[in-house]
Amino acid sequence: MYEFAVTPAVTQLRRPGVIITEVTPDSLGAELELAPNDRIIRVNGRNVRDYLDFRFQTAGETELTFKVKKPNGETLEIEFDRDEGEDFGLMFEQIVPRQCANECIFCFCKGNPADARPSLFVRDEDIRLSFLYGNYTTLSSITDDEMKRIIEQRLSPQYVSVHATDVKTRAYLLGGDESRADISGKLKTLLENDIEIHAQVVLCPTINDGAQLEKTLRDLAAHYPKVVSTAVVPVALTRYNTDDRLTRVTPEFCQRTIHEVEKLQREFRKTLGVTFAFLGDEIYVKAGMDVPSRRHYGNYPQIEDGVGMIRSFLSAFEKLLSRKAEPPALAGGGALTNRKMSVRTHSAAMVPQRFENLDFRPPANAGGSALFGTILTGEMFAQILAAQIEKYNRATGARLKVIAVPNTYFGGDVSVAGLLTAQDFLAVKGQIVGDFVIIPKSTIKSDEPIFLDGMSYDTLKQKFDVPIYDLDTPGLIKFLSAPVV
Ligand code: SF4
Repeated sequence: MYEFAVTPAVTQLRRPGVIITEVTPDSLGAELELAPNDRIIRVNGRNVRDYLDFRFQTAGETELTFKVKKPNGETLEIEFDRDEGEDFGLMFEQIVPRQCANECIFCFCKGNPADARPSLFVRDEDIRLSFLYGNYTTLSSITDDEMKRIIEQRLSPQYVSVHATDVKTRAYLLGGDESRADISGKLKTLLENDIEIHAQVVLCPTINDGAQLEKTLRDLAAHYPKVVSTAVVPVALTRYNTDDRLTRVTPEFCQRTIHEVEKLQREFRKTLGVTFAFLGDEIYVKAGMDVPSRRHYGNYPQIEDGVGMIRSFLSAFEKLLSRKAEPPALAGGGALTNRKMSVRTHSAAMVPQRFENLDFRPPANAGGSALFGTILTGEMFAQILAAQIEKYNRATGARLKVIAVPNTYFGGDVSVAGLLTAQDFLAVKGQIVGDFVIIPKSTIKSDEPIFLDGMSYDTLKQKFDVPIYDLDTPGLIKFLSAPVV
């Protein structure tokens, strides 16, 4: 589900070049009289298709010629020199994702309500977005030009949805024929050219689990370290997924999978020195088991896929709580034994640190007393967060309440925070307490303040009587970390 990293599909034919959207005043771009809506078509005689091409073709070059098409149709050639590493001061249009040609039986598009907004039906399969944002592609319909581009422009790492190394099984999952499903040759070419791969398996009970999963993980691990890691994430079915080839993931299935994969993980740690195969956090939560230790995840190679998020949060929260447990030091060096005894000397002190660098204004009465508010999150994470918040409340005197918000929009097995919608938040409005509400930042589209159900962030804010803050995990930790003085 990569909706947040892509722009909506466009239907018009792509014209050559890349469009400038912003020019920084007094920059090199401004000096060259480049302006928004100008299209850079060629750099030093080479075609430009998007900003990755622009970046690649200008990298390290100090003598440059741009061929630029102005909005009025005029074409200019601009020759210039630049200092080494000098920035152009240009912003470009986003990459329009290439669409996939698969018919995966578990495709998230099939789990959308029919009236979901069009961008939720975009089936992106784009090696550029894979490199830039960690979006997974299947490589099934990758062209020779794209393969060449990955290698030439070093678009490494690539994130590849392998699902199964058995070609028959992969073809079944992708809904295509075996020749398209077989990517062994393409993977070999990428690996031989030192392109790193992070792999993913969407685990579908009875299809690619058990012995199939073991084969897939062993086949991929044989290419370590070029295949750097593999994430195994459970298929998540909404109430709209009615395909009877799919089986829902149960707690027993998760327990069995953990048991089976743990053996392999131990083996990989012995032979490769790393865990290599990482199970999605949902598998542990659904199994009713603790997520593995910090050591298990190494440098969290699959954190972009959400794998290891819970452990990473718990580690950060542990640090936060240990800081809160220490007696806070006064700026003047004295020990503060009672927070309520602290004295503000001037109005500037009224802006607590916790609100610095966050893109919202603090509640009027925040910072002077212990926090009192509500945190909304998905059902999967709520229990884990609530246990930590309870410790935080005890340590600081805060009165924070965590609410597990059911996902009514997608329904089914969907319980992750990132897929909550505005209407889900509104459904729990009556349970909110305190001076503010915190919602997961990932529920808002990254390039537009809108929720998955199409409601704008402004509309939601108007429907609540208290301010809403959208925070990601580091943002929440930062919000809770600031000393209450
Ligand atoms: S690759 Fe499969 S899951 Fe991804 S968008 Fe295409 S059909 Fe859907």
